[in-house]
Amino acid sequence: MSRIVGIDLGTTNCCVAWLEGGRVQILPMDDGSRVMPSVVVMDAAGPIIGAKAKRQATVNPTQTVYGAKRLIGRKFKDQKIRHWGEVVPYDIVEGTLGDAWIEVEGKKYGPEQVSALLLGELKRRAESFLGEEVSSAIITVPAYFNERQRQATKDAGNIAGLNVEHIINEPTAAALGYGATQSKDETIAVFDLGGGTFDITILKKEGDLYEVLATHGDTFLGGEDFDQTVVEYLADAFMESTELDLRTNPVALQRLKDAAEEAKHALSGAEETPINLPFLMENAGNPLHLNIDAFARSHLEILATNVIARLEQPCFAALQSAGLLPEEIDRVLMAGGMTRMPAVQARVEEIFKQKPEHHLDPDHIVAIGAAVQCGIMAGDASGVTLLDVTPHSLGLRIAEGSNRDKMRVVLEKNTTIPTSVERSFTTTADMQDVVRLEVFQGESDDTRENVCLGQFLLGNLPEVQAGQVEVVVSFTIDADGLLEVSASEATTGQEATIEIETMGGLTPEEVENLRAAAAGIG
Ligand code: AMP
Repeated sequence: MSRIVGIDLGTTNCCVAWLEGGRVQILPMDDGSRVMPSVVVMDAAGPIIGAKAKRQATVNPTQTVYGAKRLIGRKFKDQKIRHWGEVVPYDIVEGTLGDAWIEVEGKKYGPEQVSALLLGELKRRAESFLGEEVSSAIITVPAYFNERQRQATKDAGNIAGLNVEHIINEPTAAALGYGATQSKDETIAVFDLGGGTFDITILKKEGDLYEVLATHGDTFLGGEDFDQTVVEYLADAFMESTELDLRTNPVALQRLKDAAEEAKHALSGAEETPINLPFLMENAGNPLHLNIDAFARSHLEILATNVIARLEQPCFAALQSAGLLPEEIDRVLMAGGMTRMPAVQARVEEIFKQKPEHHLDPDHIVAIGAAVQCGIMAGDASGVTLLDVTPHSLGLRIAEGSNRDKMRVVLEKNTTIPTSVERSFTTTADMQDVVRLEVFQGESDDTRENVCLGQFLLGNLPEVQAGQVEVVVSFTIDADGLLEVSASEATTGQEATIEIETMGGLTPEEVENLRAAAAGIG
């Protein structure tokens, strides 16, 4: 069996790990660090990826793509994407099927392609370090990712030439990573706040069984939002003294963003830090600088008040779904770089009424867990069993009276996966030989507020009176959280033809073409 590696494909950083002789190894990068920034410069001479790309960001802001994970599986018209488009220096455009894509120098890229570039680079680096081919991977995703976002991540792996053995949830991986050093049975909350996404997962560890009880989160809440509050503050302060808006200048904006993130990092350790950005802009030939002698931690905390407040509701919702009180949680484990921020730690302590643990490195813990899972799959680690849940409800649109957009839930959120359910429907018109079914994911009663995953037509039905044809639809979710829908006509046992029209993402042919193109370049 060829080597399987675990990959944490983060919004801000990526990390690769695997199991070697029962011990987790983390891939070292050229600069000695063990994470690679999730940044790609779309250069005409070929993409520049990782730390080198991040260093170029201020020189080349409009060609530097970061945070592409925030776009994955989302529509261009999504309010959050519109807002994100206003704060990043690169262009977000409408791609095929209305998806949010990136445009650099007149060329459009799907976020899957950007993720594929990152994954391809990680594959190459791992191969060069290990001196052998790395053809398979387990990739982690935020627990709160929906079906579309999971499928897009899997597509990115395939484009990069990786056989994606499994998609596992980041907090579940983190629990596995922590669990590698613990043997007690306990109820655990994993609080995972990264660069772009937030997940809270509650699970029960019993012997070698890890059972997720509930998961909640926000796929658009993370370190980038903290940085943005500082960027806005600095830009407003600069505008007040100069009447110039730094937000209109991509290079200045990128420098501001880097300085905001750097200050945020410094303030996790110090009470205050200087922010100095010389020659930020020019006014009639005069250079303008931004100098703050002492930017205080308390100031950052005030700026980030609303962002921090958004962490609470998902935690309480997860506790409620799990049927637990905060006191019933034995340990709170932290993952994701943002959990280094003292105000985040304090809020977690308030919510769960106990000190969270962050003794393992939050940057690596998810990849470590993915590596443990690789070991389990390869038979190198003991038989831990993971039982995860589906984070969002799945259902069909049905017309009920005057309400044509009612969501009928087929599979409730937080159902243990893998799972399969069947639902029967009868025809509503005489001689009806076709039924159209639309599949949605989300919690609203109104399908228009949920995500449409696809629609399909069941044809070739016997032409008889209304109500006499019974169609059985089955929803199957595999261990990766991916959905497969099948249908049959129960009355005559005749196989119904099924045609699925996806509402976003890439088709298998597009993935194959991009994979072939990437392999050709590589
Ligand atoms: P991750 O996605 O887990 O790699 O987390 C990345 C996020 O963690 C980014 O927004 C970083 O700015 C943030 N981060 C990393 N180190 C620190 C730190 N020392 N203090 C505050 N935030 C940090």
